[in-house]
Amino acid sequence: MSTDPSAAFRTLPSDHPVPAGERDAILANPGFGQHFTDHMAAIDWTVDQGWHDARVQAYGPLTLSPASAVLHYGQEIFEGLKAFRHADGSVWSFRPDANGARLQRSARRLALPELPVDLFVESIRQLVRADAAWVPSGGESSLYLRPFMIANEDFLGVRPAQRVAYYVIASPAGAYFKGGIKPVSIWLSRDYARAGRGGTGAAKCGGNYAASLLPQKQAYDNGCAQVLFLDAESGRHVEELGGMNVFLVGRDGRVATPELSGSILEGITRASVIQLLRDRGHEVVERRIDIAEWIDGVRSGEIAEVFACGTAASISPIGVLKGHDFSVGSADAGAGEVTMAIRKDLTDIQYGRAPDRHGWLTRL
Ligand code: PMP
Repeated sequence: MSTDPSAAFRTLPSDHPVPAGERDAILANPGFGQHFTDHMAAIDWTVDQGWHDARVQAYGPLTLSPASAVLHYGQEIFEGLKAFRHADGSVWSFRPDANGARLQRSARRLALPELPVDLFVESIRQLVRADAAWVPSGGESSLYLRPFMIANEDFLGVRPAQRVAYYVIASPAGAYFKGGIKPVSIWLSRDYARAGRGGTGAAKCGGNYAASLLPQKQAYDNGCAQVLFLDAESGRHVEELGGMNVFLVGRDGRVATPELSGSILEGITRASVIQLLRDRGHEVVERRIDIAEWIDGVRSGEIAEVFACGTAASISPIGVLKGHDFSVGSADAGAGEVTMAIRKDLTDIQYGRAPDRHGWLTRL
C-alpha cells in the first residue's frame, strides 16, 4: 500500500445516507451507541498481501462465513475514542496515536496483524471527514469512534487467522451525565475476576468484556452502575472497573492509582489524568492498592475523593462502593473538588476551551 496514508483510501459514498432531517433529530438526542453514521472505514489484511484495499464505504452489514475464526475463537480487538467539535466548527480527536499504539499492543497479544499507527489515524480522519455532519456540537456531545479488527478467515483450525479485516464505525454520543455530574455507585466483585496473570487483561479484546457481563449484571442487581475487579491471584488488589480506571485522592492531596499490573487496561484517560494532576502539583503514585486501604480510607476520611475515568464518561466521581457485606461512601455526597477540577481540565482541552499544552489534539 502507498506510503502516504491519505492516498491509500478510496471513497465509495453511501447511496442511502440518512436524510438530513432525521440525522438532525438523532443529533439533538443521540444517547450512546444506538445510531450509526452513513459510512465506515475498512482495510483488509491477508498473510500474503499485508494491509490493502483501504476504503470508506457505506455503513452496513458485513458478509462473514459462518466458519469465520472470530465467531468461534474470539480473535477480535477494538478501540474507543472520540471526535470533538470545537466552537469554530473544527473537529479534533484526543490522542488518537495512543489508541493506535494500544491497538497494536492488543493485536500482538491476540496474534493479529499490527495496523500501522498512521494508517489507524488516517482511517479515523477519512471516516470523520466523510461523516462530518454527524459530529454533534454543544454540551459534552461527541462522535464516538469504534475501530475494531476481526479474524475473518473461514477455517476451523485453532491458529492465528491468515485473513483479517479492520473497520471503523462511528456513533454520535450525547453528554454522559445529562442532569449534571452525579457520583456513581460501584459493586465490588469478589466472585469473579476480569483477568489473570499472563492473560488478556491488558488487551482490549471482546472476550474480556464478555467475561465482565455476569459480574456487571450483579452490579446492576445490587443497584450499582459499574463493577470493580480485584486481581485474580490474591483477590486483594484493586484493578479497575469493567470499563474505567480508578483513582483515590487522599485528604492530603496525594493521589494513588493501581499500577499497570499487566492485567489492567492502560487507559488513555488514565495517562492524561496522571499528567493533569501533576500539572496541578499533586503527587501521583502508581502502585498496588489493597481494597482494605480503600474501604478503611473512605470510612476514616483519609481518602477524600474517589473517581473513575475513561473515554465514555471522561471522569466520573464514585459515591458508594459496596459488596455482599459492606457499603462505604455516600450516594448524596457531591463530586469532590479535585475530581471536578481535573474533569474540567481534561474536557476544556478536548473541546478547545483551554490551550492544548501537551499536544494531545489531532485535527481531523
Ligand atoms: N479499563 C477498561 C477495561 C476499559 O474498557 C476502558 C475503556 N477503554 C478503560 C479502562 C479506560 O480506557 P480509556 O481511557 O483509554 O478509554
